[in-house]
Amino acid sequence: MDLAMSLKLGMKKLNRLRRQIMAVLIVSLILIVILISSLIELDKDLIVISLLLALIVLSVSTVLLLRIKNQSQVLKQIEVTIQKITNDDVSSPIFLEPANPFKKVSDELNNLSSVQREKIDQVQKENSELISVLNTLPVGIMVLDAKRDVLFSNPRISQILGNSIDKKIHPYTQDITNYQLLSIIDEVFDNKSSNHSEVRSLTDNSVTWDTQVIYNAISQEDYHVLLIMYDISEIINVKQMQIDFLRNASHELKTPVTAISGFAKTLLDGAMDDKKSLVEFLKIIDQQSDQLISLIQDVLTISHVQTKKDYRHITTNLKSYVDDRLKNFQALAQKKGLKVSNKVPKGIEVNIDHDALKRIFDNLVSNAIKYNVLGGDITVSCNKENNFWQLKISDTGIGIAQKDIPRLFERFYRADESRNKQEISGTGLGLSIVKEIIDSLGGNIRVKSQRGVGSTFTVTFPNF
Ligand code: ADP
Repeated sequence: MDLAMSLKLGMKKLNRLRRQIMAVLIVSLILIVILISSLIELDKDLIVISLLLALIVLSVSTVLLLRIKNQSQVLKQIEVTIQKITNDDVSSPIFLEPANPFKKVSDELNNLSSVQREKIDQVQKENSELISVLNTLPVGIMVLDAKRDVLFSNPRISQILGNSIDKKIHPYTQDITNYQLLSIIDEVFDNKSSNHSEVRSLTDNSVTWDTQVIYNAISQEDYHVLLIMYDISEIINVKQMQIDFLRNASHELKTPVTAISGFAKTLLDGAMDDKKSLVEFLKIIDQQSDQLISLIQDVLTISHVQTKKDYRHITTNLKSYVDDRLKNFQALAQKKGLKVSNKVPKGIEVNIDHDALKRIFDNLVSNAIKYNVLGGDITVSCNKENNFWQLKISDTGIGIAQKDIPRLFERFYRADESRNKQEISGTGLGLSIVKEIIDSLGGNIRVKSQRGVGSTFTVTFPNF
């Protein structure tokens, strides 16, 4: 039975009660008439009978009035409950006697109220779940209404805007000071169409946000504007690095190619007839070809290092490993009269990917030879702790100026000394490759150096 039906039934019973009261009223009127006439005629018996009847009528009407009062209270209670249910408020249940004409109505209402309560709880739970998800998102979100007031904002947007945002409804201009962002939002409000742009931070120009301002129509008159901001500085920086890399690589490649082509042309134009020039120019062509090969080799290594993700760490006796690798540099070291010492303690064993270690070790040792002085020293040493191990390669070479040290690991960076002295060939890519590999292994590299004294490169690896 639905609420309307129960209410109809309750009202029917209430009407019956009203009819009963009407009947009592009529009886009372008759009694009054009888009483008046008995008083006029001074009929004692009639007076007693009519007084008795009046007493009965009085008690019946008292009972009926009490019932009516009771039902009015119940009706009031029902009215309040209906009001609360309509307003989605919590209503306390109505408890009535089984005989009460509104018993069914109250049961229906109690039922309706508890179903509604469950639905409200469910919606509130879903809302709070949604809000907690929005609050943990790494994306900044702000919802504005058609009056340009802030309805919702998550913590990330506060961080992005550099403002703590009031939870109470307020105009968005209170929180947003970035004029670029302000003008995009204004445009969306004016044109009633969405916008997608990149917004730069005013305080830190290395920070850029991908910004979507979405116009969302709710009805013909009402709409919301949704602001979504996401930090894309890293993507922009990577893009910039790729552009720089391409520019630098083309520049570096152009130098030897131009030299080779220039000297070849000069030879063909007649210089080859002069034996001395022929040998000299061919030497330059040979040297520049080597430089070209080294550059291409290093660029290929960079792409290999960037794509390599899987390392295969092998337990390795470090002293024997260093001995083996140093054999490949013997001839080069002898040319400069260098003394190379392997001071790695005998028993040290490390777990390391051999391809990665070879690239790191060979680069550092070849630099220690290249940038050493005639008759200098090179020392390889190592120490191992509980959580990490360190490989040190020291030389007594030309050293590095303090101003160059912070930029050593940048791609194509060569200290002034090496750039100027063209006889020391190099690409400026070796150390950047070394650092990239060490980073991907979770280690780090440090340099200590003094001009004219020498350099020490210390590589620290975690124990795998
Ligand atoms: P390159 O191919 O020029 O050697 P690297 O990236 O290996 O490129 O090194 C970058 C620069 O760091 C070199 O050009 C040189 O100026 C400096 N450098 C590297 N190792 C040493 C070292 N052991 N002694 C002195 N300078 C060094």
